[in-house]
Amino acid sequence: MNLSLYNTATRKKEQFVPLQEGAIKLYTCGPTVYDYAHIGNFRTFLFEDFLKRYLILKGFDVTHVMNITDVDDKTIERATAQQMDLQSLTKKYTDMFFQDANRLNIMPADHYPAATDHIDIMIELIQQLIDKDHAYKTEDGSIYFSIKSFKEYGKLARLDMAGQQQTERVSADDYSKETPQDFALWKSWKKEDGDVGWESPWGKGRPGWHIECSAMSMHYLGQHFDIHCGGTDNIFPHHENEVAQSVAGKGSKFVNLWLHSEHLLVDGGKMSKSLGNYYRLDDLLEKDIHPSATRFALLNGHYRSRLNFTLTKATEAKKAITRIADFKERLQAVGSESNPQEKTMPAEFDMFVSALDDDLNIPEALGIFFEWLRNMNGKLDKDNADALEIAGGLAFVEKFNYLFQIFSKTEEIPEEILDLANKREKAREEQNWAESDRIRDEISQKGWTVEDTPSGSKLKKK
Ligand code: AMP
Ligand code: ZN
Repeated sequence: MNLSLYNTATRKKEQFVPLQEGAIKLYTCGPTVYDYAHIGNFRTFLFEDFLKRYLILKGFDVTHVMNITDVDDKTIERATAQQMDLQSLTKKYTDMFFQDANRLNIMPADHYPAATDHIDIMIELIQQLIDKDHAYKTEDGSIYFSIKSFKEYGKLARLDMAGQQQTERVSADDYSKETPQDFALWKSWKKEDGDVGWESPWGKGRPGWHIECSAMSMHYLGQHFDIHCGGTDNIFPHHENEVAQSVAGKGSKFVNLWLHSEHLLVDGGKMSKSLGNYYRLDDLLEKDIHPSATRFALLNGHYRSRLNFTLTKATEAKKAITRIADFKERLQAVGSESNPQEKTMPAEFDMFVSALDDDLNIPEALGIFFEWLRNMNGKLDKDNADALEIAGGLAFVEKFNYLFQIFSKTEEIPEEILDLANKREKAREEQNWAESDRIRDEISQKGWTVEDTPSGSKLKKK
């Protein structure tokens, strides 16, 4: 096992060793469903999808849990502002999230626990923290975690706790790294919470955001599991607090490997609605950037570096996909009986894997892949590639596609075009050439071309 990954906990690349041979338990922080997910969120979710697919490709059995944060400060605030009940608001955005994740070919998780379905296990964990003197009750019936009770507090985010003058506590779910404070595990009910609240041993209230992920990750994956992921903004306070709650509450180790992906920038800066560069998947579709191109553009960088998304890069991603699709067709065309054969995969495949084994170095892996593609195209130009090489090449393309998911988007051909293509096929069968040509023109006017090949007609975007 050669895979090494950068552990935020140790700030080092480490040889990855799963706790149980062959099986990996993975937890990834999911969306806060108070609004549509944007492409920045999806950069993180796609990094996690790539990691998971790579682990599966290496033969691991991965159990993946992604939570849905459907109660926290942001969801309650938004529901109030929109005069909606919390459940209607979060259902709307949860549905949208799944729709977009599906369009991006993100592999579904094994469990998507929603926080509001797991309040009982959060109460249980909070009670354990109180029993062990890691948490205390305030006058209003809220429960806070005492950070000075946990000597490892600040280790994940590398905070200098000795220099901290901790005088206050914080009830907000999110707060700055500069002010580590006792944080809320349970927030007593307030007027602003409307009808959101659950009964607990400490009165009516709701959980803090951080306790949600501690309770649900351990519930589904066990107290000590392999990998926990999120975006870098999750390191503090969210993941720092998760470690504190889980380790202090259960007294065992929590997570072996913390992986964090860097943020997405758009046009060199933060996405903003006022600058017109705040993109959701649908905004890009309107600009003729399909989810497979968005996926490729968002994966095209090292997960630990900031990635700058621009429309030019998205257009380049589209071209790269077309190039790979054309190449695959060429391989398939030369050996009509060519089947992918892993046994004869090129040496470049091993280099590709070595690059990914080195902390998922996607830029290097892509460099290797495209150089191989160029060489193979050269050989195909000269009719110089033998059948085994082609079969191995197809197997490489297949593995590549398993990770990058660029070909499986047949649904990107609009229904209307598929329908026309079927009608044209029928006209051809009936040898109605005039009708078949008429439909071909209609398809062309709508931006698609039909190519008739020995194995049937193929649709291509112009
Ligand atoms: P949220 O829905 O706000 O809880 O965020 C969901 C995930 O998206 C978290 O793991 C965040 O770290 C991540 N995230 C938020 N903004 C960005 C961004 N601009 N680039 C990359 N990841 C982000
Ligand atoms: Zn989380």
